[in-house]
Amino acid sequence: MKILGLIGGMSWESSIVYYQLINELVKEKLGGFHSCKNVMFTIDFDKTVKLQHEGKWDELDLIMADAAQRLEKAGADVIILCTNTMHLCSKAITDSITVPFLHIAEATGMAIKNQNIKKIALLGTRFTMEKDFYKDILTNQFGIEVIIPNEQERTKVHNIIYNELVQGQIKDESREVYKNIIANLENQGAEGVILGCTEIPLLISDSDVNIPTFATTNIHAEKAVEWILNN
Ligand code: GLU
Repeated sequence: MKILGLIGGMSWESSIVYYQLINELVKEKLGGFHSCKNVMFTIDFDKTVKLQHEGKWDELDLIMADAAQRLEKAGADVIILCTNTMHLCSKAITDSITVPFLHIAEATGMAIKNQNIKKIALLGTRFTMEKDFYKDILTNQFGIEVIIPNEQERTKVHNIIYNELVQGQIKDESREVYKNIIANLENQGAEGVILGCTEIPLLISDSDVNIPTFATTNIHAEKAVEWILNN
């Protein structure tokens, strides 16, 4: 088994889920007392949120690159970044390390393609929904059409992430908001929905909606475990 490096803390509410999933998956695959060899570097999320909302992506590039380098120095054979949004900094990360980096949107694109889905809805932070870094991978590498909620809905999705989910607050009324938004996207032809923020699976699961959900946290953790066991 190789050593998995995880850049965590964005937020730690979902880093916990990653940690649990990677260990459960290794145990499921290898049995016995097996667990996942890994090293996690957790950043302080407060500064990250401020810099995101000020649009200071160059500064965030440096923080992400520094975290990735620390993991490589600590022995990681492969690195994952435990958030969708911060993949905006993925070039800075790959430029600063020599070990492979497993991109969350590529893992997600592969999972969607395997289900032969051609049109997908994307929920996430405003940055993930509105900027091109995520949608481009799905469209250019996997030929998937991506639709996003309207402006008013995007604001609700974004605010629920930062005001509630990353702070560990899971509210029934917010689940209803998300369910309505997903239903609107289904009416626009979405055959599935990407839970493209690593905390959204804390709120929404397959049983809440009519179309298949793609929980990026789980998809990414599975891809990482597959890599460390097969390389
Ligand atoms: N964890 C979230 C994501 O997957 C949002 C928090 C953040 O990184 O800003 O995008």
